[in-house]
Amino acid sequence: MSDLPDTMKALVAYGNGDYRLETSYPVPACGEDDIIIKTEGCGICAGDLKCQHGAAMFWGDEKEAPWVKPPFIPGHEFVGRIVKMGAKAAAANGFSIGDRITADQIVPCGECRFCKSGRYWMCQPHSIFGFQNTNNGGMAEYVRYPKTSVISRVPDTMPLDQALLIEPYGCSKHAVDRAQIGNEDVVVISGAGTLGLGMITYARMKNPAKLISLDMADNRLEKAKKFGADLTINPGKEDVVQKILDMTDGYGCDIYIEATGHPSSVVQGLKMIRKLGRFVEFSVFGEPVTVDWSIIGDRKELDLMGSHLSPYCYPFVIENISNGKLKTDGVVSKTFSLEEWETAFDYASGKYGDFKVAITFE
Ligand SMILES: [Zn+2]
Ligand SMILES: [Zn+2]
Repeated sequence: MSDLPDTMKALVAYGNGDYRLETSYPVPACGEDDIIIKTEGCGICAGDLKCQHGAAMFWGDEKEAPWVKPPFIPGHEFVGRIVKMGAKAAAANGFSIGDRITADQIVPCGECRFCKSGRYWMCQPHSIFGFQNTNNGGMAEYVRYPKTSVISRVPDTMPLDQALLIEPYGCSKHAVDRAQIGNEDVVVISGAGTLGLGMITYARMKNPAKLISLDMADNRLEKAKKFGADLTINPGKEDVVQKILDMTDGYGCDIYIEATGHPSSVVQGLKMIRKLGRFVEFSVFGEPVTVDWSIIGDRKELDLMGSHLSPYCYPFVIENISNGKLKTDGVVSKTFSLEEWETAFDYASGKYGDFKVAITFE
């Protein structure tokens, strides 16, 4: 299996708004520290969509320099089997050809202050699979894992639709861990897309006093209920702030985890959270959030926590997806071939009621 073809199918981003399906793109070269996998599948993330739509946080504008480095292959939620290993990579880890693996989306530099102190997910140069030509992503038949990749083994028996949730659920776990949920807490998780659902099913394991899911889409709320939410509320139909206040003797929820990406969800959370409560921000926003910050200090003395990526989360997530404690049923709601990438990206927007949409190979 070590003789790979010279070329492969790949979706390549050449520039803002210029994504092309290539049928004979070069297969990545395997350096002595590298591992090459044959891709089984790759989930489409909101970040991939925002990038494809040309968001300034990726492509830059008059204020910001571009972060992406085209031409690059998108995708960071992928899994595959090892087809080639460099001599040093083979010696340095216990992997064999044919092993099924996945990696954290960040490729740490291994040398900055954060990497050296074990906080690799905040690595200063911050290379991520799928946005720069130095670390091409999973929307291609083959992907190169460089030396510093944070690799985890995926059980052979795990169905692909579950394996594709390892990365998003890893991010969900980290956000919920940041919230430090106790058994007496009333926890509100705003947003029940793939990430929010991952948060619900993991937060369920923490057994809070009440676990509440908010979303504007009823089919998502139904799923949240199946995944362990005690109560679901659609803020488009009900006065959700009043409802939470009524149910907590007017105090508000103890913990609010924001996972929608909509500024209104931040405003709503700051209104419904109790004094001295804990607010966890996970989302990436398409526009600035405007809010009176006095509520954070003067009025409520809140703990405001950020959450980014999935540090040290993969082993737990893989084990608990495998044993069924983390629910995954129907979250990967549609899969497409790479040739159908435009349709796949369209469905991944969620406008047809999908959760996670993925590209699969073969
Ligand atoms: Zn993602
Ligand atoms: Zn680093």
